[in-house]
Amino acid sequence: GLSQPNGDFKPRYVRVNTLKIDVDSAVKELEKHYTVKKDETVPDLLVLPPGSDLHAHPLLTNGRIFLQGKASSMAAAALQPEAGWEVLDACSAPGNKTVHLAALMEGQGKIIACELNEERVKRLEHTIKLSGATNIEVCHGDFLGLNPKDTSFAKVRAILLDPSCSGSGTITDRLDHLLPSHSAVKLNYDSIRLHKLAVFQKKALAHALSFPQVERVVYSTCSIDQIENEDVVSSVLPLASSLGFKLATPFPQWQRRGLPVFAGSEHLFRMDPVEDKEGFFIALFVKENKLDTPKS
Ligand code: SAM
Repeated sequence: GLSQPNGDFKPRYVRVNTLKIDVDSAVKELEKHYTVKKDETVPDLLVLPPGSDLHAHPLLTNGRIFLQGKASSMAAAALQPEAGWEVLDACSAPGNKTVHLAALMEGQGKIIACELNEERVKRLEHTIKLSGATNIEVCHGDFLGLNPKDTSFAKVRAILLDPSCSGSGTITDRLDHLLPSHSAVKLNYDSIRLHKLAVFQKKALAHALSFPQVERVVYSTCSIDQIENEDVVSSVLPLASSLGFKLATPFPQWQRRGLPVFAGSEHLFRMDPVEDKEGFFIALFVKENKLDTPKS
């Protein structure tokens, strides 16, 4: 397929793995060869010039930094898990967000990382090993098959749900739409595929909200399609509100919000593939009685 045609103009984002190195030491090391800025929105995220080649850098090969896009780094940051919590990552491989969660939790508490695909479980295990996190339990299986009432999930307070999606927010995919294979058959195939993905996404989001002690749920996709984003969120709103959840506003300073298709969509977070150079979507559900509790 097409390799990263956007690599030429997109800044390089580097997430500092604070389980292994502090941000200032990483900056100091990287500044020997690159111009380094701290990202304005995401803590522990550094911005390097487009085209910076880091693939063999020792900080990367020994897991002190991870190459992770800005959008992708925003999902775990939006969840804001606290040190010591139990957290479930529902669709976790290759594990970039899982190990980000571990860093945000300062290596304390417990993360259950669920993944259906066996090959991808191996990549997840590799990422975890590289990160140095020791509090992640890998669960190879179907997230929808997990019983929320099972005692192993009794203490889960936060869930990250980053399910399979169309990937329509990534530039490679958008260029793909310009290829000659653009026919009525392909368009119809695309719409069937989107519909199937959305059915799973809705089920998975409803499932995440049903864990008894969960108070924060992030739903994220790298899709720009309403059917995988706002429509998924609006489909679970009655259930969410019956369980005491409200939509909260991740990154309130951020301008671009959800498409105005239901009351409350202004809480949703969107990134635009052209303006922001990456298409991404985040919804954050918070249990109402936890909304105003200050973080301890
Ligand atoms: N969160 C990951 C990261 O940041 O590295 C990326 C996750 S990717 C978008 C979605 C993952 O969900 C895929 O690895 C896919 O195999 C997995 N998946 C799909 N259906 C699943 C299910 N029913 N239960 C658990 N995992 C599933």
